Amino acid sequence: MNYQDFSENIIKADDIIIFSHVNPDGDTLGSMTALYNVIKNNFQKIPTMVIAGELPEIYEFLPDIEKAVTFDKIEKDRVFDLAVAIDIAAKDRMGMGLPFFENAKVRMNIDHHKTNNGYGDYTLIKPDACSAGEILFDLFEEHGLKIDKNTADALYTSILTDTGGFRFENTSAKTFEIASKLVKYGTKPGTIARYCFESKPKAMVLLQANALINAEFLENQKIAYTCISQKDMEKFNAKEDYTEGIVGALRQIKTTEVAAVLKEVTKQSTKVSLRSKNVDCSKIAAAFDGGGHAFAAGCTIQKPLNIARDKLIEEIKKHI
Ligand code: AMP
Ligand code: MN
Ligand code: MN
Repeated sequence: MNYQDFSENIIKADDIIIFSHVNPDGDTLGSMTALYNVIKNNFQKIPTMVIAGELPEIYEFLPDIEKAVTFDKIEKDRVFDLAVAIDIAAKDRMGMGLPFFENAKVRMNIDHHKTNNGYGDYTLIKPDACSAGEILFDLFEEHGLKIDKNTADALYTSILTDTGGFRFENTSAKTFEIASKLVKYGTKPGTIARYCFESKPKAMVLLQANALINAEFLENQKIAYTCISQKDMEKFNAKEDYTEGIVGALRQIKTTEVAAVLKEVTKQSTKVSLRSKNVDCSKIAAAFDGGGHAFAAGCTIQKPLNIARDKLIEEIKKHI
């Protein structure tokens, strides 16, 4: 997709919908609100923003995120002129919203996951970009679209969170150049970092501590994993996003090559988060129809927690 495709389709569309992915993170939510602001300020249109499930508390600060709705608030037969998927590696990561994407007259897919298979009518997929926010920044800046402080804050959130605070391998000279420009557009890095990294609910930190205490280590401690059951979630009165960050804490251990968090979603379904240092963990996720990036990937295994764990460990062992 070139800029002309992007702008002409926005100009033609009266009814636009922007999708974020299930288990939303700072990149998908930051990118969605940034695109919303750019369309509002530059094309004088108000898109619909949707969240699949609950908004993580830490992202309540994002500009205009309170305008985002859940899919049950949209009439079932509504046909959008334009649907934009942002940071969504695979179509099924739109959750309940997929029919709205499929039924839209024009579908755009803007993403940086290397496992993205190029669904949609127009695609802008850059696996080298640190975040979907970086792709949007380039698109906006190269074509002179107005980036106000709200847009800058949202894009900065995308970049800050998907680079783990400018620490992961996806952090490049370009990442810092964009961050520098966003600061000139008005973003205060200290403020956004505090929202993203130092505003966790207490129960989230305690759930994390409990998950780390229960961690297991295999293959000379190269594999570090922990399981979180529905019972654990209930014990800490945890919301779905409270498990975010646990897998990163396991990777922090020097000996860890592959870190995994298995979360019981239902008695028959287990969500897996993977992080690694050298191993391409998107290949491990792909063995279970998941995907992601080389060092951060995920999948859902349609098996009970214990069985999913055994199958996952067996697969990880093939890769280390
Ligand atoms: P998570 O562990 O949920 O934070 O996901 C890590 C990375 O893998 C993110 O970039 C996700 O977008 C991606 N990912 C997670 N689950 C899946 C899946 N089922 N299919 C494709 N990509 C996924
Ligand atoms: Mn994401
Ligand atoms: Mn991303």
